[in-house]
Amino acid sequence: MVTPKHPDADAEVLRRIRAALGPNVPIAVTLDFHGNVSPQMAETANILIGYQTYPHVDQRQRGLIAAQLLARAVKGEVRPVCHVAKPPMLLNLLGQDTSREPMAGLMRTAREMEQQPGILSVSLMAGFPYADVPDMGASVIVVADGNRTHAKAAADELANAMWSVREQLNVPCPRPEAAVHMALTSTKLPALLVDLGDNIGGGSAGDGTVLLAELLKQHAKGFVVVIHAPAAVEQAKSAGVGGTVDVTVGGSTGVLHGEPVRVRGMVRSLHEGKWTEVEPRHGGRRQNDQGHTAVIDLADGNQLVLNSLRMPPFSLGQLTSIGIDPKQARVIVVKAAVAYKAAYEPIGGEIIEVDTPGLTAINAARFEYKRIRRPMYPLD
Ligand SMILES: [Zn+2]
Repeated sequence: MVTPKHPDADAEVLRRIRAALGPNVPIAVTLDFHGNVSPQMAETANILIGYQTYPHVDQRQRGLIAAQLLARAVKGEVRPVCHVAKPPMLLNLLGQDTSREPMAGLMRTAREMEQQPGILSVSLMAGFPYADVPDMGASVIVVADGNRTHAKAAADELANAMWSVREQLNVPCPRPEAAVHMALTSTKLPALLVDLGDNIGGGSAGDGTVLLAELLKQHAKGFVVVIHAPAAVEQAKSAGVGGTVDVTVGGSTGVLHGEPVRVRGMVRSLHEGKWTEVEPRHGGRRQNDQGHTAVIDLADGNQLVLNSLRMPPFSLGQLTSIGIDPKQARVIVVKAAVAYKAAYEPIGGEIIEVDTPGLTAINAARFEYKRIRRPMYPLD
């Protein structure tokens, strides 16, 4: 967490909790895998435990480990102490994917280290590269039983292992024109075009048009694109089901994610935009709401979904609840980085990750950092 006064607000919250509780009450904290963890946090809490999956589907398991350790600490069975190692590297979101090597191998090493005597927990933390704060970047947290030196040695060992594979973690990907061409010539359908620059879960606008414009330019057939466009939804509602609309989408918060695009089509259906997800998905959300939603049939079997609330593509219900079978699409644009995979990988043919522009662009060299530690791989 970052606030205007506290670039490391989690450490400040912990400092106040510690001041209120005194030195002897154990404190356990669970953390998102993207946490930019600071040494101050490790000094103040006894137990720091991060999710170890991306997409994040292990919140329950990691929470349980934290609670069990806390209970054992309260009973006096263990004396947990924490250390965080900070290798001078940032990880792009693709390299953070825990199903992809070398991250998958690093995770296996972390799980093996947790079996060592005296080690209570190991968390390899990817960090969040879009936060311009001193503690931005990867971390390794080790909780040891009473021995800080042991915690530090283990954390440093895994941090060194990360550092040694930094070049493989720095995953490259194609630009929009080449990526769309790949999707249109793919035989593994549906081809998923991953709009990394407009990753809604990462905080972007959700109305990026770069891939939509490129798909139209290359005369794509059978695509499904979801765009956040509340004004266009109102137009579709006025036209009614079966009516024709001429709408402009994109560019509502600036042109970082592409210029506005004008499209003409027929309103196929209108929806309230709510659905329930029953499977484990990134974030664990059950009740979903993308606001009033319109499905627009464009030419060539292409479909544009316009919604009123920004919704990361973490659940297939975003499409199935409005009558779209994603398995029947030829190309689907997903505005995400990795978290969409829990929902979309099982139905996806080919996955094409695209270096699109935007707030969540994959290439950190596009951003001007002012507060991070330097030097920082791969920037320096
Ligand atoms: Zn996360």
